[in-house]
Amino acid sequence: MTDPETLSVTIVDGYVDEPAHFGVPPYISTYPRYAAGALVDAGVPRDQITYHTIDRLREQPDYWRDVDEADLMIYLGGMTVPGKYVGGTPAEPDEVRKLAWTANGTSLMGGPVKFGVGEENAGATETERQDLDFDFVAKGDVEAAVHDLVDSGLEGFNNRMRDLDEVSRWAQEGAFIVEQHPNHPAHLICELETSRGCAYRCSFCTEPLYGNPEFRPPPTVVGEVDALSDYGVKHFRIGRQADILAYGGDGEAPNPDALRQLYSGIREVAPDLETLHLDNMNPITIVNWPERSREGIRIIAEHNTPGDTAAFGLESADPVVQEENNLNVTAEECFEAVRIVNEAAGWRPGEDPADAPTFGDGAPRRLPKLLPGINLLHGLKGEREETYERNRAFLQRVYDEGYMLRRINIRQVMAFDGTDMSDTGAKIANDHKQLFKRYKKRVREEIDNPMLERVAPPGTVLPDVHLEYHQDGTTFGRQLGTYPLLVGVPGERELGRTIDVAVVDHGYRSVTGVPYPLDLNAASMNELTAIPGIGDSTAGDIVVNRPYDSIADADLGTAFDLSQFVTTRSLESAD
Ligand code: SF4
Repeated sequence: MTDPETLSVTIVDGYVDEPAHFGVPPYISTYPRYAAGALVDAGVPRDQITYHTIDRLREQPDYWRDVDEADLMIYLGGMTVPGKYVGGTPAEPDEVRKLAWTANGTSLMGGPVKFGVGEENAGATETERQDLDFDFVAKGDVEAAVHDLVDSGLEGFNNRMRDLDEVSRWAQEGAFIVEQHPNHPAHLICELETSRGCAYRCSFCTEPLYGNPEFRPPPTVVGEVDALSDYGVKHFRIGRQADILAYGGDGEAPNPDALRQLYSGIREVAPDLETLHLDNMNPITIVNWPERSREGIRIIAEHNTPGDTAAFGLESADPVVQEENNLNVTAEECFEAVRIVNEAAGWRPGEDPADAPTFGDGAPRRLPKLLPGINLLHGLKGEREETYERNRAFLQRVYDEGYMLRRINIRQVMAFDGTDMSDTGAKIANDHKQLFKRYKKRVREEIDNPMLERVAPPGTVLPDVHLEYHQDGTTFGRQLGTYPLLVGVPGERELGRTIDVAVVDHGYRSVTGVPYPLDLNAASMNELTAIPGIGDSTAGDIVVNRPYDSIADADLGTAFDLSQFVTTRSLESAD
């Protein structure tokens, strides 16, 4: 019998990406935090719990010693939606196996990895459940397995789900683990869970495997935010749920009172938070309960930070695909939901919410508070050539009728055991690969690009962009938040820093920006020429005639208004 007091534990985070839960850096998912809390609850002292991300193990191989020497090694990971990531690289199956072989103590694997593992983390693949040579695989909740395994003296556990009291306790007790994340404190965003499960049953989705939704009451989520902010966290995303609008209700209909308690409670315990975003809103909720939804959306927009995205899982605008895959929203209904979110929350800081949605010359140069995103999934049952045209036409209509989308996410299906898609597998996705490529390119060029210009026109200020990597003489970075825009800044600037940026140009899914405010006395030629209306010769004149006491001093010989980019006013960063 192993005494918990003497136990050393190493948690390795291989990252997760589920339909309603994200944990690739700069995000930390709930799994390591809950697992750490369950360990503490079972009697393991905090200072005997070590946490590493898979990227840290790759970068600093000495840390493999912690995997080797721990009495208990817990691996957390699993990708149930395909994706490409800037902030970290999820563990590949071979690395997970190596973890099991390296561990001398007891090894336990958990998280969505229990749903299956492909040959690689990619779309259009099939997956199967594997144990990857671990002693134990948690087929229920990994945090419950961790708790019971320690409680049994490392003998074993019954696969079970944790209950509400446990998750409330463990979420708070495990908050300390964030301090061991390489991104802590400034560049870390905590994914918050408000519920699991879903009232609907889409064919490809792993979320219904958690059953019908069960909500964590506002005080337990607020208490967790309080604990996390005590450990220095300033960025939060309420992303671990199928539908934020359904929060605290009967499972389907919105309950604005619960949303208000949740959001205002978070603001109260974390008044200095810098990011409060969400993920996942079900458009069918908005269509079925438009007035209650409008109220809920307004409450969210009052309390969140700008640039927030409500991702809608339309998945397909083709009625044949909808029917065959049990998708719960039609293109027409989704369009209605897009309209309502635009009207209720598409306003920008500094303007009257009643004016939403706003864009164009008169709109303040900040991102809107909350906009819809659209998720489209290809390779589903019944997909045909016409499906692609229908999806494209849906997006075009949103643009043509004057609404905004913050993000269009186009993916190919991964087929998991236990979902209806497992019989069809990746066959349709593979057959349609060429079609998919052509269509995606067209959407990027014809819709994403003009839409992005509408959402973030030149002069839009993006505060606190974290500079992440260099490529071809440009520095790329993102704000912390839900689906942040990729921002390219001319020149190679020091990485790891945070700067405010003003947008000057648009790609398909990214923008070019210059530091804001740009100092006329220090700006490089590359930065100056990136500003619309400034060519090589004007930029050359600006550089030659330095220094200036004010913008007015710089006689640019152009009617172009530089004040959006070059200013002496300091930016108010909090909203
Ligand atoms: S609505 Fe469908 S896609 Fe969304 S979480 Fe529920 S089952 Fe999954």
